[in-house]
Amino acid sequence: MAAVGSGGSVGAAPGMAVVAPLPALTSRLPVRRAAAKRAASGPQPAAPEQKRARSGTASSQPPGRAPLRALSVPAAPGPGPPRKALTVTAAPRTGKGNCGAAPVPAEAPVGGAHRRRAAWDLKGQLSDLRAALGNQKEKAQRLDGENRQLREQLRELQEALQERERRVEELDGCVSTLSTELEKHRQESELRGQQLEELREADRELSARLEAAEAQLHQTKAALAQSDSEVAELRLRAESQARRLREQEELQHALEMERRRLHNLVQELKGNIRVFCRVRPLLAAEKEKQKGMEHLHFPPQDNKTLVLLREEESHIGRERKEDLKYDFSFDRVFRPSASQEEVFEEISLLVQSALDGYHVCIFAYGQTGSGKTYTMEGPDALDPERRGMIPRAVRQVFQGAQELAEKGWQYRFSASFLEIYNESLRDLLGARPECGELEIRRVSSASEELHVPNLRRIPVASEDEVLQLLQTATANRSVARTALNDHSSRSHSIFQLRIDGTNAARELRCSSVLSLVDLAGSERLDKSQSQGKRLRETQSINTSLSSLGLVIMALAKKEPHIPYRNSKLTYLLQNSLGGNAKMLMFVNISPLEENFSESLNSLRFASKVNECVVGTAHANRK
Ligand code: ADP
Ligand code: MG
Repeated sequence: MAAVGSGGSVGAAPGMAVVAPLPALTSRLPVRRAAAKRAASGPQPAAPEQKRARSGTASSQPPGRAPLRALSVPAAPGPGPPRKALTVTAAPRTGKGNCGAAPVPAEAPVGGAHRRRAAWDLKGQLSDLRAALGNQKEKAQRLDGENRQLREQLRELQEALQERERRVEELDGCVSTLSTELEKHRQESELRGQQLEELREADRELSARLEAAEAQLHQTKAALAQSDSEVAELRLRAESQARRLREQEELQHALEMERRRLHNLVQELKGNIRVFCRVRPLLAAEKEKQKGMEHLHFPPQDNKTLVLLREEESHIGRERKEDLKYDFSFDRVFRPSASQEEVFEEISLLVQSALDGYHVCIFAYGQTGSGKTYTMEGPDALDPERRGMIPRAVRQVFQGAQELAEKGWQYRFSASFLEIYNESLRDLLGARPECGELEIRRVSSASEELHVPNLRRIPVASEDEVLQLLQTATANRSVARTALNDHSSRSHSIFQLRIDGTNAARELRCSSVLSLVDLAGSERLDKSQSQGKRLRETQSINTSLSSLGLVIMALAKKEPHIPYRNSKLTYLLQNSLGGNAKMLMFVNISPLEENFSESLNSLRFASKVNECVVGTAHANRK
């Protein structure tokens, strides 16, 4: 009788009870392979459990435990790489060791009886077979359990595999992220490399510049050292020059004082009162009436004499005529052709005296229309050729002050412009009716100095400022002219520039007044024809002009009483006339023959003044 085959199924022998087929065992199970391996590598000492199993001894161990141990595959994948060994493959079958066959040899004794049943002992054989079948069933159950377990393990392993694959995927993801990052880092490092290279380049450049700067610094230090020595040398020179400058200043001051003294001496020698005669030219309209100036004679080579000639009927016989000749001598006679500049040249030295601290008074005397206003103001203050004495004097004063500033003199100026009409004063720089009439008063009861309290005295710092004031005055006068019928020729106009100089370094001060006076027309009106206002005008003009003459004469004779108070004109000019001042009178003469007697009167008056020798002037120094 054949033993139970290794086919996994027990074939039913005819006449034999049908046994339920055993669950098929596949050789793919790893346990089989492990067992096969063991079988292939020869007989091994069996573990006690296996021995027990083989011997069919009942065991407390659950079936299938031994083969599980034999597997010893880690349930969960370790951190390492997935193990190929896990792949379950069929192991080659080798004869006896084939696990697919019943683990119990066919010839194994059944029921512990090792004897062979006699052929007849069918019962015994049956029981053996039953026993074997029971064994096989048991075994099949065990194997089934093992199989389940192995399936479980397989599932676990597959899960593990999936886990691994997922992990691999994850790791792949990680790897790609890392490689992206790596790429990024590589690029960054490349960039850093470039930057580093740039920085190195910049460093090289800066080093070069530093070197250049150091070289320059070195040079500069050398130059500085040289400059220091030069500065020291210059300082020494500056000190010696400052010393010399101080000496020069001393000398200059001494020279300036000497200049002033000599200048004054010259002026005194010329006379502190001088008279200039000026004959104006014939105007275009006048030339038609009068051909030439026969009655006026200017001796050639003589600029100090004027001769008036007149044919008079002889008292002896009707036929004969007698030439009347009047000789006049003055400090200077200006012919009709004399320009304003020529005239000013002669008076500019007096203007210098005003800056030196002497009162200076310049008058224009003469009949109306003789050229007084033309001489003093000029027809146009802005016309450089024809500007009069006032604008020219003003320019010289400011220029002179500038020159004296270099010698330590500082000047302040103020200007006033008024007119005297009918013995009353009027401010030409803007009347202030609220202040009432302008009066001449003493500065203080202890002082002889006079002033006009409400008269505008405007500080001026330049020639232009003064010219503006002159324009204002001219405008104010012309308003009056229309209202009072040529009132300007009936009034005296007085421009005064007050000059205050200080030399702080030497504690010197000087002050003076430069007065330029355009007197009222000196013509005598026939008193019998003058009435009312005209009469009063004439009287007041006569009074003031004659008192001017009297004052000058009294001064010349050094009389104890000088009649200044006889007229507003002389009273106002009290400080500017006399011993302490310098005077100059223009006697203006009309070239018209019809004005002969007026011209004669003017020249006589001027001659009287010219005869006066006024006492030595003293500078108003304090
Ligand atoms: P006064 O002021 O004495 O009344 P003006 O100065 O008004 O006289 O002169 C009278 C006229 O004569 C004016 O038209 C003036 O321009 C003119 N005149 C005066 N002097 C001169 C001169 N030297 N050259 C040219 N014209 C003059
Ligand atoms: Mg005039």
